[in-house]
Amino acid sequence: MSITREENADYGRKYKLAKKRAVLALYGSKCNRCGFSDERALQIDHVWGDPELPRNAYGRGSTGLYIKILQGSVPKEDYQCLCSNCNWIKRAESIVEHNTRAKSRKLVVILKSTALAVDQKHHKYGAQHHIGGLA
Ligand SMILES: [Zn+2]
Repeated sequence: MSITREENADYGRKYKLAKKRAVLALYGSKCNRCGFSDERALQIDHVWGDPELPRNAYGRGSTGLYIKILQGSVPKEDYQCLCSNCNWIKRAESIVEHNTRAKSRKLVVILKSTALAVDQKHHKYGAQHHIGGLA
């Protein structure tokens, strides 16, 4: 008995959907932010995820991650169920936050070097003023 290519593809889709449903059920089958519950737009999201982490970081697409969560080989609390809208919004917010942090780090470096330069100038001129004052 052999199975056709279509049957095989169908089996793959059913397998992936079953894994996805099982994982979504672990997280209440609804979006953690807005409560949206249509499974077609629900995704498993890494709570502290780097927005630049490649989507295939776990291999085999999302199914690889679903299997890891179901097996308990990754901590369940590191993930949450989000709808695509909330996931995109979260991604946009974390990119803004990431850029803001990077900018403020740069600003601190600039401020520190400016403060140092002012401090050195102050010592230089301060000493001259002091000498001037004595004369
Ligand atoms: Zn949502």
